[in-house]
Amino acid sequence: MDDRFRGWAWEYSPVDPPYDYLLPLSEIAGRYCESMRDIYLHHVEKKRKPRTGKMVEGALYHKIVSSCVEHAKRTLYSMGIIDGNELGTILNQLKSEVIEDQLKRAPKPSPANRNGQWNMKTIRENMTWLWEYEVNQIVAAVERTRTVQPYIGLDALVNSAIPIVVEQKLDGRNLGLSGYLSADAFATEGVVLDLKTGEKRYFHRIATTGYAMVIESIHEQPIDVGCIVYCWLRDGIPPRVDYDIHSIDEPLRQEFLELRDEAMKLVYDQRDPGLPSKCYEDCPYWDECH
Ligand code: SF4
Repeated sequence: MDDRFRGWAWEYSPVDPPYDYLLPLSEIAGRYCESMRDIYLHHVEKKRKPRTGKMVEGALYHKIVSSCVEHAKRTLYSMGIIDGNELGTILNQLKSEVIEDQLKRAPKPSPANRNGQWNMKTIRENMTWLWEYEVNQIVAAVERTRTVQPYIGLDALVNSAIPIVVEQKLDGRNLGLSGYLSADAFATEGVVLDLKTGEKRYFHRIATTGYAMVIESIHEQPIDVGCIVYCWLRDGIPPRVDYDIHSIDEPLRQEFLELRDEAMKLVYDQRDPGLPSKCYEDCPYWDECH
């Protein structure tokens, strides 16, 4: 790996940002709109991005997974070292309360948006499935850790069995990104994790790459692995989870930087790039563009 593509080389080309703007990483990497008109509308025309039902739904799925991790850690720290199954029982007793609380507090989709409708029953079922899946993973990890290390202390148990920090807040300004980035999760072994509940897209790896470079710019430690967790939650099909574990290599870093520079130039030039050959159905800006 050429060190010029590490996040800590942010004062030098090609990592240093070419303009003074700060753009959200999710907008640079989320290349659903191939022409970048979404970036033009948001940052040049200052149009607020309408909140679609799918966006709210996705946020709820992210929230339920991070809540489960937080509750598991909190339970362990408050109760001390307990049996994995006991932890599972406690977490599953909390399930309904947490889900209902999150549904109650979720922002509503924009009424004017054509994708504003959402199916509460399906969302509740999916959140239940995600919570139970996560609990099972944590229970297994706690049991495995206690079996291998029977004399382990509490802090070491929590960090070995649940070695991730969820919703990690990151300052991306060195790379021309927002100062309040939020990575889904960062594993203590130096792996960036991203959770997706939609279709697999090639550019999802750009987001993990961007987060990895931001972490490198802050901590000056190499981050070479990204992991995208795909949760397939479709009506009538049993949910399943797939992992895309990939290396954060030079071509991906280059692609991320090229996208960032292109987005920044578009904002600087205030140039409307027009519509791509095909707009995607769920685009929040559909009504604006069509
Ligand atoms: S509607 Fe089409 S052009 Fe407009 S932002 Fe969405 S994908 Fe891009």
